[in-house]
Amino acid sequence: MNYSVALVPGDGIGPEVTAKAVDVLDLVGDKFGHIFNFVELEAGGLAIDSTGEPLPASTLEAAKHCDALLLGAVGGPKWENLPGSMRPERALLGLRAGLGVFANLRPAALLPQLRDACPLKDEVLAASHVEGKPTFDLLIVRELTGGIYFGERGRDGDGRSPGSTAFDTERYSRAEIERVLRVAYDAAARRRSRLCLVDKANVLESSRFWREITAEMAGEYKNIETSYMYVDNCAMQLVRAPGQFDVIVTSNIFGDILSDEASVLTGSIGMLASASIGAKETDRRYPSGMYEPIHGSAPDIAGKDIANPLAAILSAAMMLRYSFSLEKEARAVEASVNGALDMGLRTKDIAGRTAGCAAERIVGTNEMAAAVIKALENQG
Ligand code: NAD
Repeated sequence: MNYSVALVPGDGIGPEVTAKAVDVLDLVGDKFGHIFNFVELEAGGLAIDSTGEPLPASTLEAAKHCDALLLGAVGGPKWENLPGSMRPERALLGLRAGLGVFANLRPAALLPQLRDACPLKDEVLAASHVEGKPTFDLLIVRELTGGIYFGERGRDGDGRSPGSTAFDTERYSRAEIERVLRVAYDAAARRRSRLCLVDKANVLESSRFWREITAEMAGEYKNIETSYMYVDNCAMQLVRAPGQFDVIVTSNIFGDILSDEASVLTGSIGMLASASIGAKETDRRYPSGMYEPIHGSAPDIAGKDIANPLAAILSAAMMLRYSFSLEKEARAVEASVNGALDMGLRTKDIAGRTAGCAAERIVGTNEMAAAVIKALENQG
């Protein structure tokens, strides 16, 4: 099958790490009989330099015609003093809005090879099992385009008198809640079949609405175990027993906070992938997925063959899974990343995290990606 992938390398380490993800996808194509056609597009600082705007209309238009988008990172000191609307990061908002993505998926899993990257104590992890092993492997599905970040806001008064006020509004429609819940239930069905709605239903009316709709939908997804948790408790449970979670689904603001908390539990920013996806077109594909590592453009290490390419490669794996429904291929890529780590290879950001690992060897971007490719080639 043929897939078109909009490729936005962006700035800083973006081009270095996306190039490695492309190499991996090309090999996946050869091995499994698919063709990935890459359409390289400009956005971010690069686009500002060449066109004067962070997201040229031609980039968005071309991206809309592709099956999915893979992005490196945008931004850097060169463009830091531009006004907000002209900064490279505006390209991300424009792409999300233009592609109609409304669900942000952030996996957070502890790889055994990176045990020491996780700040949790052994006792905590020991109490925290996934399929019998002391670890955690969870996915946060965050609503991305609604809620308090986009609700009505304002101020009354002069700002100085005691009666002056400021307000933001959390407002969700049934349609907004239903569509993100569907993404989350679908994700749970591909994983360990458990979904936890995180909210503040003991206080907030909008949270009670989320609960009502989730309870209705739970009837449709009988094979998925649905549970509910207050957000304050969830923030605590993530550091007390993260292994209890499979898929967490939540609103924009709660997801923003919890996904950052969860990412710290896994260690390096250079390992973490993300997906932002939109409406399901058929039973099998999300047409408008945007896949990117969660790290930024890391200008401090750009061009030095230091950047960890694994977050970008794992983002490509998410694209295979969620946009193309190529589960076998996605798992093969993830297993190859594991294979490279099993060989003791570490980029600088994840080095020295494995207690007593004498075999650990620090490598650069190129060597780490080459090891992933080799592991993929060697798979049966
Ligand atoms: P950053 O994620 O770029 O870097 C933070 C630290 O992590 C740096 O020390 C960096 O060297 C390190 N790091 C990041 N990715 C790494 C990797 N793959 N391998 C090894 N080390 C890695 O965050 P920042 O420094 O706050 O931001 C730099 C620029 O990136 C800014 O212009 C910011 O606005 C932009 N940014 C873009 C995105 C995006 O495009 N999605 C996200 C965050 C920040």
